[in-house]
This record gives sequence, C-alpha cells and structure tokens, in this order.
Amino acid sequence: MTQQSQGNGSHNDDIIIMENVKKRFGDFWALKGITTRVKRQEVVVIIGPSGSGKSTLIRCINHLEKHDEGRIIVDGIELSHDVRNIEAIRREVGMVFQQFNLFPHMTVLDNITLAPRIVRKWPREKAEKLAMELLERVGIADQAHKYPGQLSGGQQQRVAIARALAMQPKIMLFDEPTSALDPEMIKEVLDVMRELARSGMTMVVVTHEMGFAREVADRIIFMDAGQIVEEGTPEHFFTNPRHERTKLFLSQIL
Ligand code: ADP
Ligand code: MG
Repeated sequence: MTQQSQGNGSHNDDIIIMENVKKRFGDFWALKGITTRVKRQEVVVIIGPSGSGKSTLIRCINHLEKHDEGRIIVDGIELSHDVRNIEAIRREVGMVFQQFNLFPHMTVLDNITLAPRIVRKWPREKAEKLAMELLERVGIADQAHKYPGQLSGGQQQRVAIARALAMQPKIMLFDEPTSALDPEMIKEVLDVMRELARSGMTMVVVTHEMGFAREVADRIIFMDAGQIVEEGTPEHFFTNPRHERTKLFLSQIL
C-alpha cells in the first residue's frame, strides 16, 4: 500500500523517516528500534563499533534488508513489502559499497550506462553522454573504456559512485566506501563525496573517517548494539558527547 506524505505525520522536508525500525536475523535483533529522520540535502554520518547495525540500518533504507517492525518512509513512499514500492524507492536511492561491486566483464562506461538503459530505457547515446559527464565529475573520464580490473581501488570506487549517480537518485547511501582502499586513495574518494555533499545531495554515510565526518556531516549518529545511542552535530559529538559509550568509542578511535 502506498502511503503519501500527507496524513502520516511526515513533513515534506523529511526525505527519510524511520519510526521504531526493528530487524532481526533469527533470534538476534540487529536493529532494536531505530527512530530518526533525514532532511532533504542533509548529510548524516553513522558511526559505531563493528556489529552495531550500521550496515543493516542503511540496507533497510533501500530494502536490501527487510525490516521486521516499524515504518520506513522514503520521499513519501512507505517501504512495505509491495514490490512496486520497493522498485520506486530503489530508483531514488543510490548505494555505494565497501567492495565497489562493479561488473568485471564490462567497461567502465558500460557499468555506468547499464541501469539507465535498462531501467530508464534511455537510448545508448543519452546514457553515454550522462556517463561521460559523471566520469568528468569524479575525475576519471580518461578511464571510460577500461575494465574495472585495470583501475586502482580509488578509481573503481569513483566509478561506483558515478554508476549510482547515473540513476539520478535523490539520496545516496554509502557503506564504508573507503574501508577497502589503500590510504593514498582514500582522499580522492572522500573529495568526490565532499563535492557531492556541497552540490546538495542527501547523503547517509557509514564511515570511520572522522575528519570527513567532522567536516562534512550535518549530523552524526552514533550506534551501538542495534540502537542509536546519541546523535547531534559534529561540534556536539566530538567536543561534548554525553554518553559513556560514545566517549569510550571516541577514545578508542581518535
Ligand atoms: P555493522 O555494519 O555496524 O558492522 P551490521 O549491520 O553488519 O553491523 O551487523 C549487525 C549485526 O547483525 C551483527 O551482529 C551481524 O553479525 C548481524 N548480521 C548482519 N547481517 C546478518 C545476516 N545476514 N545474518 C545473520 N546475522 C547478520
Ligand atoms: Mg557494516
């Protein structure tokens, strides 16, 4: 059943609404009741220890994981088990993973044009024109005709970002996009993400890059054991965390 944004307590400003979202794997509750909202053009960074539910949370937003309880509303569409809603939301939400997940047997250009051509039914020329613009934007237009295996990790991740952007999403989700990269390649990916944030993209980013979080995030969410322990501005978060668990986590990583 499609829910419009009227009458369910949402504001048009909130592009993602999560209300008491729970997710379990067997007997184990990976999300124990997540309530939060993301505003249009907001950049939210999620941090927390390994196993705290960060990936599960963002995977629920585009239904790569199915939540068991609570509500998720993305741009006015409630994420129910109706396949049409799921398709509608996936068209609006781009995702970038730790392990790039490019198609190895396809060129960079074909990786990027595939979804627009198949899902949006764009002609090849139109899809390729946008793909080349996006490759310019992420700084690797000269790699368009190579295969992923011929690129560095940082270049592959920038292709993955361009590929997600090719669907012209309203929201971009990032799950530890720099965690698989050698240190010298992290910056080139973070620079692309920084530019994307500046352009007004709504972003939810799981990362351990605290410099990026401090500089780019509008809000930081700290999770532990399937719950949001604390959320606030980077300023609040890094200088004046309230909860002991947050302080402990920060003392271990900073
Ligand atoms: P994070 O991204 O914060 O490291 P995850 O969201 O990946 O944490 O995982 C949260 C918890 O849920 C972990 O304990 C993990 O082992 C468990 N989990 C995640 N995915 C699955 C799955 N497909 N099956 C069983 N348990 C899972
Ligand atoms: Mg994870």
